[in-house]
Amino acid sequence: MTDPSPAVEFTDVSRHFDEVRAVERVSFRIPDGEFFTMLGPSGSGKTTCLRLIAGFDRPTAGHIQLFGRDVTKLPPYERDVNTVFQNYALFPHMTVGENIAYGLMVKKVPKAERERRVAEMLELVRLPGLHRRKPSQLSGGQQQRIALARALINHPRVLLLDEPLGALDLKLRQQMQIELKALQHEVGITFVFVTHDQEEAMSMSDRIAVFNLGRIEQIGPPAELYEQPQTRFVATFVGTSNLLEGDAAAALTGSPTAFAVRPEKIRLDDESAEAGSGDMCVADGYVQEFLYLGMHTRYIVKLDNGAEITVARQNEQIAAEQGVWRPGDRVRLIWPKLANNPLQG
Ligand code: ATP
Repeated sequence: MTDPSPAVEFTDVSRHFDEVRAVERVSFRIPDGEFFTMLGPSGSGKTTCLRLIAGFDRPTAGHIQLFGRDVTKLPPYERDVNTVFQNYALFPHMTVGENIAYGLMVKKVPKAERERRVAEMLELVRLPGLHRRKPSQLSGGQQQRIALARALINHPRVLLLDEPLGALDLKLRQQMQIELKALQHEVGITFVFVTHDQEEAMSMSDRIAVFNLGRIEQIGPPAELYEQPQTRFVATFVGTSNLLEGDAAAALTGSPTAFAVRPEKIRLDDESAEAGSGDMCVADGYVQEFLYLGMHTRYIVKLDNGAEITVARQNEQIAAEQGVWRPGDRVRLIWPKLANNPLQG
């Protein structure tokens, strides 16, 4: 029977270090089997939350539950979780096999079973036969997979991952993102992943919690955070957004309420272009600059009302690096009012 309680639940959790409010009244629930990511800039409180789940640290206030059990005051070894760190933390003097088997050695599991389970774990992370190597004889990506194998061998119910791909180069990082997601599917347990990289968070997570200054600004699936950001911070931290408020907003929508609109939702056209059907925002201005980025070109347009708007235009045409419009050209921006997201904070 499956346990209906969430794998992890924070209720009004705070962690203060003297006057530093690292985590401030944070509440969330992670259902069992979810790939949950804590995303935010450096110092926003993500690692502190992860350490609180692991039991390496205790909250100043609030409660933490794992599978319905209050673990707020329990030490790490009484929690059914394991952690993978960015720096792998493999023991250099031990072989790969000994590193992976470490948790089983501590539990005095017999040798034959240890060997069987190490082989199973090496299969799982797609590195069969490497058990005799030393960590120094492995690439960064391979070391990270060994760290994963070591963390999974005890069959924890929750795996905590603290920027585990941070030390890898971009290509390898992208490959590991795909593998990590596949691995999570295969083992079927809850993953709690910490990163400051929004693309990484978007590519792997079932849901993301966006952290800022020790608080969660918004929690939701990647597409919801991107399509319906509720705050200025989320609108700008998750992807690129145009923020409009006051007179600039009123000129477009009739209301001064602040809103965000994504660059790719805006059509860039000649000044004589018709808005077409539907309820549209229409704004004229001139091209200030453009950036050729391969797949698309980014135009910065200065509107006649003074606002600056970024527009992304897909490069379908050859020689797009020349820019369809040049700095100084008069242009018209048109987008559906439905693409505007009202902002709360
Ligand atoms: P990063 O991505 O850089 O790891 P983070 O979002 O994980 O950042 P935390 O490490 O959780 O952020 O830190 C949140 C705040 O708490 C920071 O201002 C940090 O300096 C502070 N902090 C964390 N641990 C301690 C500690 N042991 N003593 C004092 N302050 C701390």
